[in-house]
Amino acid sequence: MSMIGVVLDAANIANRNPPPNSPPGTPRRWEFARVERVRAACAARWPDRHVRAVIDASVMSRLADRAGAATAEREGWLITATGDADDDVLEIADRYAALVFSRDNFGHARLEYPWLDGEPDRVWWFSTRRGLVTLAPRPLKRLTPDEIERARREKERKAGRPVDDADRTWRCLAAEGVCTYAGGPVPAGMLREHRGAWFCMACNNEAEEVLYEPSPAAPPAAPTLLVQVDGDRRRTLDVPSGGLLLGRGGPRRPRVTDVTASLDRSAAKQISRDHLRVEVDDDGWPVAVHEGENGVTFLNPRIGPDGLPADNRLVRGEEYPLCDGDELVLGPGRVRIVVSCAEGDPE
Ligand SMILES: [Zn+2]
Repeated sequence: MSMIGVVLDAANIANRNPPPNSPPGTPRRWEFARVERVRAACAARWPDRHVRAVIDASVMSRLADRAGAATAEREGWLITATGDADDDVLEIADRYAALVFSRDNFGHARLEYPWLDGEPDRVWWFSTRRGLVTLAPRPLKRLTPDEIERARREKERKAGRPVDDADRTWRCLAAEGVCTYAGGPVPAGMLREHRGAWFCMACNNEAEEVLYEPSPAAPPAAPTLLVQVDGDRRRTLDVPSGGLLLGRGGPRRPRVTDVTASLDRSAAKQISRDHLRVEVDDDGWPVAVHEGENGVTFLNPRIGPDGLPADNRLVRGEEYPLCDGDELVLGPGRVRIVVSCAEGDPE
């Protein structure tokens, strides 16, 4: 048996937000077929690596297409996490030095797994354009000790209250009249879990989970880009479905959105006329493509002692999927673009 070389955060990959411009109330879906497509793309790219997927139990029960997941479990490449799937994903990746496919920033785990910060090719993601899956490394944004501590506290808060989940409801199974909650929803604070079963603490009878009905979700807004020059916010750009070309614009170049307006001439010259394209993939998520012939672009770079971006330079012409909070640094670093987009994480 070959070693596990790739771990897929299956809940993350299966989650499909309603496409932009869906009517309000369109539910979010989890489709296992998405996991199968990413697995196939991994197998094609790394034929020698064994791919393993981990899924949260709560998402397993919400899949629109459970047959594929059941087959994957039988074939042995899908594991249902008993606790938090993130923990299993990271533990397996750490043990086998495997790549991780996730949109998570794993802020809470940066100290435990230093490779999250130190190895830019360790976490990956994908974009789908006209049905075609492209895999790309996803260098995570470095976090300050304060940000890591905040993420740890947030994770603990969630773990301490596993039943406080707006999407899940339990019903007390006591006979009518035995319990105030009989037949109806049990408040989160009155639930107790024992060996995978849930109990109503008011009467000690079993509580049954009311099967999930997808809650209506607002369609995600178009991704937006906040342009900063020397740390000051200059403009906010919506990324239209046709994408956006950023660079050194001018009156005679209306197709270029100018990001150099407040730079002096020599600094502006370090940004190409056609520098960076930001497009929207089939799922409504932004994708960056560096196009500049002369200038350079970095994704979440470390800043070196000389004040310049020191790593994570984009390869010209390649697609890099972007996540909420990602930072693109253009040229020597005076122009920064902060990405914001609707997140599809089920947690
Ligand atoms: Zn009860």
